[in-house]
Amino acid sequence: MRAIRRFTVRPVLPASLSALSELAGNLRWSWHPPTQDVFAEVDDELWTSSGHDPVRLLGAVGAARLEQLAADEGFLGRLAAARADLERYLTEPRWFQQQEGERAGTPRAVAYFSPEFGITAVLPQYSGGLGILAGDHLKAASDLGVPIIGVGLLYRHGYFKQSLSREGWQQETYPLLDPDGLPISLLRDGEGQRATISIALPGGPDLQARIWVASVGRVPLLMLDTDVEGNPEHYAEITDRLYGGNSEHRLRQELLLGVGGVRAVREYCRITGHPEPEVFHTNEGHAGFLGVERVRELTVDPAGPGLDVDTALEVGRASTVFTTHTPVPAGIDRFPRSLVEQYFATDGGATPGVPVERVLALGTEDYDGGDAAVFNMAVMGFRLAQRANGVSLLHGEVSRGMFSGLWPAFDEAEVPIGSITNGVHAPTWVARELFDLAAAHGADGEDPDSFWAAAEKVPAGDMWSTKRVLRDRLVHEARRRLRRSWEKRGAASAELGWIDSALDPDVLTIGFARRVPSYKRLTLMLRDPARLKALLLHPERPVQLVIAGKSHPADDGGKRLIQEMVRFADDPEVRHRIVFLPNYDIAMAQPLYPGCDVWLNNPLRPYEACGTSGMKAALNGGLNLSILDGWWDEWFDGENGWAIPSADGLDDPDRRDDLEATALYDLIEHEVAPRFYDLDHEGVPTRWVEMLRHTLGSLGPKVLATRMVRDYTRTLYAPAAGTARALNSDFAGARALAEWKRRVRSGWGEVRVEHVESTGVGDAPQVGDVLQVRAFVALGSLAPEDVVVQVVHGRADAEDALRDTTTTDLHVVESYEGGRHRLDAEVTLGSSGPFGYTVRVLPANPLLVSPAELGVVALAPA
Ligand SMILES: *Cc1c(COP(=O)(O)O)cnc(C)c1O
Repeated sequence: MRAIRRFTVRPVLPASLSALSELAGNLRWSWHPPTQDVFAEVDDELWTSSGHDPVRLLGAVGAARLEQLAADEGFLGRLAAARADLERYLTEPRWFQQQEGERAGTPRAVAYFSPEFGITAVLPQYSGGLGILAGDHLKAASDLGVPIIGVGLLYRHGYFKQSLSREGWQQETYPLLDPDGLPISLLRDGEGQRATISIALPGGPDLQARIWVASVGRVPLLMLDTDVEGNPEHYAEITDRLYGGNSEHRLRQELLLGVGGVRAVREYCRITGHPEPEVFHTNEGHAGFLGVERVRELTVDPAGPGLDVDTALEVGRASTVFTTHTPVPAGIDRFPRSLVEQYFATDGGATPGVPVERVLALGTEDYDGGDAAVFNMAVMGFRLAQRANGVSLLHGEVSRGMFSGLWPAFDEAEVPIGSITNGVHAPTWVARELFDLAAAHGADGEDPDSFWAAAEKVPAGDMWSTKRVLRDRLVHEARRRLRRSWEKRGAASAELGWIDSALDPDVLTIGFARRVPSYKRLTLMLRDPARLKALLLHPERPVQLVIAGKSHPADDGGKRLIQEMVRFADDPEVRHRIVFLPNYDIAMAQPLYPGCDVWLNNPLRPYEACGTSGMKAALNGGLNLSILDGWWDEWFDGENGWAIPSADGLDDPDRRDDLEATALYDLIEHEVAPRFYDLDHEGVPTRWVEMLRHTLGSLGPKVLATRMVRDYTRTLYAPAAGTARALNSDFAGARALAEWKRRVRSGWGEVRVEHVESTGVGDAPQVGDVLQVRAFVALGSLAPEDVVVQVVHGRADAEDALRDTTTTDLHVVESYEGGRHRLDAEVTLGSSGPFGYTVRVLPANPLLVSPAELGVVALAPA
């Protein structure tokens, strides 16, 4: 029989144990081992069988055991201490509170929108790197005291669970998640009524959504859920699963996330008194409609200030940060324009009163190389955010090229997209044993910097024996998963004896786990199967591989790669040295990174925007073996691992794969394995341990999510809050800025560099000579204060294109009738070689972040 309805009954704990609910109700336990110890003490077996899920544990533990615990003074003391520690963590001033406060422009609050959040295995609301990053962002913000509110959706089925068929084909299942069994609670108002938001949808009743709150340490994460009474069935399905369904389904999800997300934030702040966000950060383009909802609030909402659309856009832009996450075009959401038109109809659409043409203009690909029938969420992201960034130095550069069509008058280097390199949350990802080892050598848990100093002092032998413990744990975990997988694939126990000796805790262990889009090249290592076999089965220096990854359910190409990998690993000759573990998720990842000696990454450069799994491996004393892409391109220093030479630039993809695979085999055979097995008389590979120490010391501080969130706070959130404040006080600044932009745009046609002269450099210019530049410009109706006139100078290449340019502003010396001016500047020739310069006029206003913002420029005629 099947139940027609189900729900989860929450336990009633004795009053003396109520702190257990408090601890379970805040996800800080997931990165705080002492709190996990308290749960384990409640019932060790249940703690394990629940998959380390406090809500399930407390739901399953019997009344007798609870009585026992309630009478156990020792336990009650430890429980009280854990509760007090949480209380302290939630209330004490942290890094952010030690900043100068509002005077320094720190925002009162930041809303952080993301389609997925990977926080813990027991809240499976993520598919891969984007979600894990969002989770780490919230946790690090909590640790630093940055006042962030997370905003996402609650997917009833999360992402799929992966298993394998007998033939090695990926199988997907979508277990139903009961919100009552999750570590979240409904947002309710003062009267105990559920808070809801609603959105008008075309041709139907309004969509309703309720708001769940997950407490991520100090950070609330709001999750919208449409599975509520009153919604028609097809509305309830909007939050069914992550990244499923057709275009319209995705659009509805993104409408809910962006428009509904802002409404949920307003409800949350109204009910709890939390300060309203001054900055809105959208993690990838999916939440971009938040900017449209903010325009609605500022223009037609009766409770708002009634601004015109241009002014509202200025207010919105100033306070919005957009992070782009992928250089893969397929990774960017694009909708038919007509679909967006339908959902944002001026009358009765999702943001009623906001003219639909204005909405459409934000995302339309109306530039060279774009498709004008398409609405592009990344394009809207850039147009609605004054500040935008990629996620590594290289990815920033690639993004400037990729989106340069939006700023056609500017060189790529001037496209206003910066970068902040991603980071990872150490308390979540670093094995407890490593923290303990560091603590034994003087590290102070409260001060992450002391960790690196302590790692220096740990004797090589201790470091090495700890790595063996971690490798051994991975080996046992992998065997357990392998057995389960084979049972699912239909094998009888009698066939599975070999699993007990699959993998070896003393063999060089290489990890490779990630989603399986084609650019990540799961099967590059299979390019020459005989060569890989020889590496695995080497008589003195064998290697073993632990592999995992999910393919998107609609991507049969990815599933074929998985099958190819599984079939290779099924071969009795090598199956003790290479395993594919189904269902890569946080629970698998946590023991995987610490257990690996080497973390392999071989993407097609430059498609890996950043990559974070290698960072997690590095923090656990793993050495990276990777193509120079994403973060590795930035921080590989020759000593902290190995770079696989990339043949990017080569047009023939097959030859490229051949070359890169050969380089990979060579590195493993000639560099990696020999160093790993080069043991001293005590059995310690001293040179390996040196590299490991160097990795911890040099990469450790950089790859942290706290470094990343500090960077965001200082370079994006605080300046955005500053500009927003300048515009927001009675909106006079915003009105003036919008009016100024209108004036500059309409007058720009008359702006010209008419004539340029230079003196001061003879026939044989030398370093140190001073070039006097004089320019005559016509500004038409614009004033000299509206613009900046610059000498742009640098190295001139063979085609006279300027490289490595610097700019020097010219100043007005004389003004004539008809808006004409003479300006002068001096440029000192700083380096030898071919030199060139030109003169240009750009709009100038202290409220612009980049002079490219309006997209207009007037260049001296060639
Ligand atoms: C870190 C992590 C990822 C992302 O790894 P990349 O290197 O960025 O591809 C994906 N899934 C899980 C479970 C992770 O822990």
